[in-house]
Amino acid sequence: MARVVVIGGGFGGMAAAARLAKLGHRVRLFERTEQLGGAVRKVEQDGFSWDIGPTAMTLPAAIRDTFRKSGRPLEQVRDLVPVETPRWHVFQDGSAIDLPIQSRSGQRAELEQTLGKSAADAWELTIDQLGPTWELLRAQALEQPYKGIRALGVKGARTLAPWRNLAELKLPDERLRAVLEHHLIVTGTDPRTAPAYLAVHAYVERTFGLWTCEGGLTGLVDAFVRRLAERKVDVRLGAPVAKITSKNRTITGVVLEDGREITADLVVAADGTADLRTGDVRLTCIGVDRQAPVLPHETVVHGDPLVVVRAPQSQRAWTILCYGEGDPLDLLADRGIDIRPYVLTRRDLQTPQYGPPWSWRTLTPNRDPHTHGLFHVGGTTRPGPGLPYVMLGAALVAEDIGKAQRQQAQAN
Ligand SMILES: Cc1cc2nc3c(=O)[nH]c(=O)nc-3n(C[C@H](O)[C@H](O)[C@H](O)COP(=O)(O)OP(=O)(O)OC[C@H]3O[C@@H](n4cnc5c(N)ncnc54)[C@H](O)[C@@H]3O)c2cc1C
Repeated sequence: MARVVVIGGGFGGMAAAARLAKLGHRVRLFERTEQLGGAVRKVEQDGFSWDIGPTAMTLPAAIRDTFRKSGRPLEQVRDLVPVETPRWHVFQDGSAIDLPIQSRSGQRAELEQTLGKSAADAWELTIDQLGPTWELLRAQALEQPYKGIRALGVKGARTLAPWRNLAELKLPDERLRAVLEHHLIVTGTDPRTAPAYLAVHAYVERTFGLWTCEGGLTGLVDAFVRRLAERKVDVRLGAPVAKITSKNRTITGVVLEDGREITADLVVAADGTADLRTGDVRLTCIGVDRQAPVLPHETVVHGDPLVVVRAPQSQRAWTILCYGEGDPLDLLADRGIDIRPYVLTRRDLQTPQYGPPWSWRTLTPNRDPHTHGLFHVGGTTRPGPGLPYVMLGAALVAEDIGKAQRQQAQAN
C-alpha cells in the first residue's frame, strides 16, 4: 500500500483519489478552498443559482466508469440526463442553425433545410471521416498513455489527421467551419493552427451526446463527496499545498502552506496547474424573468468576440461566456438577441479559460518525466480539458500506479 497525496479536489483529483483508494492505497486529498468540485461549482444571488463552470459533459461512460471502478455504479447514486435541446448557432449575417446534438440524421435534416444539400453532405462526410480518428484516439490516447505519432505508424498517422490541420479542411460554407471551430475557441485553442484531430469533438458529441444531472452537474460533486467518504479518503479542505518535495528525483511528499510536512510515496498533482492556463474569460450570470425567450441549453453567437449563452434545462439562471471585449448583453443585442429587458439580476465574474490549448505537446504528461512517484491529472494534463477527459486521465494514472505496485510486489 502506497501513501498517496492528491493535490486538488476538482473532478481530476476526486476521480484519482477514489480510484486509488479502491486499489487499496492510503489516500489523502488536500484542497485549497473550502469545497470540493473545483471548476464545477455554483454561485447564488437574489434567489438565483448558477453553475459557473461546466453545465454538461459528453462521454457519459467516463463518469460511469469512474464510479463503477471505485465502488457502487453511478446509476445507483445519481441519474445522468441527456441534454435534449439542440445547440443554437447564430451567425453574423443573422442566419441561425438549431443543430441537434446526438443525431446524425437530425443534423443532416437541419443543415439541408438551412444551408442546403451540399453543405449538409459536406458536414456529414467530414464528421463521418472523424469516426476512425476517434477510434484511434480512444485506443491509443485515452485507454492507454499516448506514445507519440511515431508509434501510430504511417497508416495510424493518416487516420489521426485526415487533414494536416483544420485550416486545410475544405467546407463549402464558412458557417460550417464556425460550428466546427467554436469548441476550440472555448478551450483556448487557435483554430487556424489546431491539429485536425481536434475536430473529433463534433463526432464525439454527435455520437455520445451531451449529459447533465437534474439540477446541474454540481449534483455529481455530492456523489463524489460520498464516494470519497466511503473509500475512506482523508479529505482536508482549506489546505493549500505550497510545495511538492523530492529527494534524488524521487517524491518524498508535500509541504502545506501552514508549514506542515506530509510524507508520501506518490503525489498526484490535480491542481489545475495554473501556468498552462491561457488566461481568464468573462462570465456574466443573469437571472431573467418569465417573459424571457426560451433558449436551448447552449446558444453560440459567432463572430468576434464569440459569445456563448448557457441556459441549462431552460431554467431562468443563465450564464454568458464572452471570449473578447465588450459588454456581453450589448453584444448579444447587436446580434439580434436582446435579453436586456428581461434581466432581473446580474453578476460579472472572471473565470479561468475552459482549458489550455489542446495539443499533446502543450499538455503535461500524466507520469512526470523528471520525478519518480509524481503524477499529473486534470484539464491541463493529458488527455486534455473537459470533464470526461479529466476523468479518463485519472483512470490512466490509477492504472499506472496500480501496475507499478504490482511490479514492485513481483520484484520483492
Ligand atoms: C467556465 C468553464 C466552463 C466549462 N464548461 C465545461 C463543460 O460544459 N463541459 C466540460 O466537460 N468541461 C467544461 N469545462 C472544463 C472543465 O471544467 C475542466 O476541464 C475540469 O473541471 C478540470 O478539472 P480539474 O480537476 O483538472 O481542475 P479544477 O476543477 O480547476 O480543480 C482544481 C482544484 O485544485 C485546487 N487547488 C489548486 N491549487 C491548489 C493547491 N496548491 N493546493 C490544494 N488545492 C489546490 C483548486 O482549488 C481546485 O479545486 C469548463 C471550464 C470552465 C472554466
